[in-house]
Amino acid sequence: MFEEERERLVGDLMKWGYLTKPELIAAFKKVPREGFLQEKSQDLAYSDQPLYIGNGQTISAPSMIAIMMQTLDLKRGQSVLEIGAGSGYNAALLAEAVGESGKVVTMERISELAAFARANLRKTGYGRVKVVVGDGTLGYDEGAPWDRILVTACAPNLSLPLLAQLAPGGKLGAPVGEHYMFQTWKVATKIKGEEIKVADHGGCSFVPLIGAYGWKE
Ligand code: SAM
Repeated sequence: MFEEERERLVGDLMKWGYLTKPELIAAFKKVPREGFLQEKSQDLAYSDQPLYIGNGQTISAPSMIAIMMQTLDLKRGQSVLEIGAGSGYNAALLAEAVGESGKVVTMERISELAAFARANLRKTGYGRVKVVVGDGTLGYDEGAPWDRILVTACAPNLSLPLLAQLAPGGKLGAPVGEHYMFQTWKVATKIKGEEIKVADHGGCSFVPLIGAYGWKE
């Protein structure tokens, strides 16, 4: 029902330069964003904007998700930890990017949203993504070390325990800055040992990361 709109949006994201990697283009063409929205917002599924998903939270705009995923340099077979499951949409895109041989775990602090994400992932065919309820600022030791960690809520800084859970050569992407303003999309790469290199990829706007190493509620 939404195939034409999905194709058009992916075409726009390519034209605007947000999507260049073939495997990510394929993922965006496949994952049905409407399946991760409340019924009342489904008609807006293929407009390039964040949308309300309940509990005071949002699903990010597709162009922002494209930036996050392009800068993480995802590859087949990798293990990925996402912090901020929200609707589950980004986790489904991650599952497409790393393929059946990869592994995706997504963490969410709000249990109602974790249930929403789990249900959305199951009904769209991504039941292999594990949804965990908990404070993602502490990471998820059980699956560590992670090849990639994607934080989808704004952290005050990059000194998160998450860095310790990165595999050598691993990358952690996170929006860092103030509440809803002056935020920068940053990607930290673990070079060797504990040496970390950080690159900035422009401004962004996210809801706050709330937790032991995030903002206070
Ligand atoms: N990735 C989501 C998607 O595809 O719909 C959108 C994420 S939304 C912008 C940010 C999410 O991070 C919210 O659902 C929020 O509850 C969650 N969050 C905030 N702090 C968190 C924490 N410490 N651990 C886990 N989730 C957190």
